[in-house]
Amino acid sequence: MPDLHNDVHWNLSDLYSGMDDPRIDQALEAAQARAEQFQADYKGRINSPGLTADILGAALREYEALQQDSSKPAYFASLLFTTDTSDPARGAFLQKVRERGTQLAIPLLFFDLELAALPDEVFEPLVNSPLVTPYAHFLHELRLYRKHLLSETEERLLEETANTGGRAFRRLFSETVSNAEFTFRGETMNQAKILSLLYDADPQTRREAGHAFTQGLQANYRQVTFIFNTLLQDKNVSDRLRKYDYPEQSRHMANELPRETVDLVVDTVARNYPLVARFYHVKREILGLDTLTHADRYAPLFEAEGMVTFPEARQIVLDAFGDFSPAMRERAGEFFDKGWIDAPPALGKEGGAYCQYVTPDLHPFVFMNYLGRMRDVMTLAHELGHGVHASLSRAQSLLNFRGTLPLAELASTFGEMLVFERVQSTANLKDKLALHAQKIEDAFATIPRQTALYRFEQAIHKHRRSQGELTPDDFGNFWQQEIQAMFGDAVQLGDEHKIWWSYIGHFVNSPFYVYAYSFGELLALSLYRQAQTGGPQFAQNYLDMLSAGGSLSPQQLMAKVGIDLDDPAFWQGGFDVLEGLVARFEQLWKEYSQAQ
Ligand SMILES: [Zn+2]
Repeated sequence: MPDLHNDVHWNLSDLYSGMDDPRIDQALEAAQARAEQFQADYKGRINSPGLTADILGAALREYEALQQDSSKPAYFASLLFTTDTSDPARGAFLQKVRERGTQLAIPLLFFDLELAALPDEVFEPLVNSPLVTPYAHFLHELRLYRKHLLSETEERLLEETANTGGRAFRRLFSETVSNAEFTFRGETMNQAKILSLLYDADPQTRREAGHAFTQGLQANYRQVTFIFNTLLQDKNVSDRLRKYDYPEQSRHMANELPRETVDLVVDTVARNYPLVARFYHVKREILGLDTLTHADRYAPLFEAEGMVTFPEARQIVLDAFGDFSPAMRERAGEFFDKGWIDAPPALGKEGGAYCQYVTPDLHPFVFMNYLGRMRDVMTLAHELGHGVHASLSRAQSLLNFRGTLPLAELASTFGEMLVFERVQSTANLKDKLALHAQKIEDAFATIPRQTALYRFEQAIHKHRRSQGELTPDDFGNFWQQEIQAMFGDAVQLGDEHKIWWSYIGHFVNSPFYVYAYSFGELLALSLYRQAQTGGPQFAQNYLDMLSAGGSLSPQQLMAKVGIDLDDPAFWQGGFDVLEGLVARFEQLWKEYSQAQ
């Protein structure tokens, strides 16, 4: 293994000096006292005809300030824990800080409820006061739930019974799936390991791994079917009680998106499914196989490429960002210069990567496991895309700091795209081909695949509500139908694939969550297309939009970069970028095969 020079660790001292820093307990105690004081000062005074802009403005500022101060220990504990999960002291510290956080939330509960319940005639004049307008977006979003909240007694009943109801079934699912065992060539493995074999270069290995995966899922099939049926009905009942008109409604509300906009995106994606087949036909040819099955989708084109050291990766990412906007490069550069990144893998360190927003008065952090592959350079670009967004959003106060889920992956995907274009432009033909395949497959996994998953979810919720419980075959048939629609005639999904829905946690833990992935990535691609023709003014508008954080709705934010989310042409533009990548991939393969 060559030296990657990735010995770059973050410095958490901007938060605390360590777990024993006395300021941690002081912060938690002070916050608890403040939360109780807040309750004493404001409970019963918010949802009241006597509410004034002075009172409301002061309450909002105090609420925000105490959240900001009290959340720092939890961020610190979580950052510390992920770099060494094997250290029991860090685990215990995290748990302690979390429990203190729950304690703190209780005296504050009344505030949201009273704000939501406030009659329009009291609320409307107040929200236009300069003392309150900075919080207008936060308040409007909160108040949308007014129609869907129940009485305090009913809410408490639902909350208390959830632990032995829906929540218990979700936990059972999680325990069942994470303890599932898969036997491959005599070796027993967990889910992550068996799934990683689907990325193996040898077709026989992939096939056997696919079979072992199916067998392992079959062992829990009846139980998982029961859990799904129960949770589908649980949501049906809760939606009825809370007066939601259709299954997806609560998710659309949380995402601050109108149903029409989501439908437009989903329809655009489905209309572009043939692009998936077009790519996989070429991939099959490159792999030299007669047919592609469900076990071949992630097969690598070639063996691994050369290694990229961490300083080289830093240069690549900063240069690509800098070409787009010097201000973006500057923001990203801070992460390296000021110790905001933790790069090397280590024993006990969590896998994967993330960017942690902290609070607006402090900077974000980036966590990753840098292994020197081109994939890791893209991950660095992805997390620094988030990082630049988080950093710019510090212009907002805490309640306006973070955007909603569908926009969460915007800046990261955009950053990746900038870096991808730069890297591929200087790569040799073979690496170019591999880079394109990787980029296209990642985009397919996010855009069409998550849309197919969403349509599967729509089908099962609808079936449960109109026709009652689903049999294992019902689930399998819907699943096969939606995934096959995406692959067209390019991939033959075998019968074994019919059960491959049964391990996906999003269906159980956050219904309809998946479309946000399609939405965000397609948005980023289309935005990227605008960037190519938009000149320096576009870059400025883009950074302004990021700086608005979560202070505006997705519609309002996108208007800042001249985009109308309800314009079908905008969404098709994202597919035009993808189509361009697939066309280039076809051309590269032609050149490569002729040169052989
Ligand atoms: Zn991300």
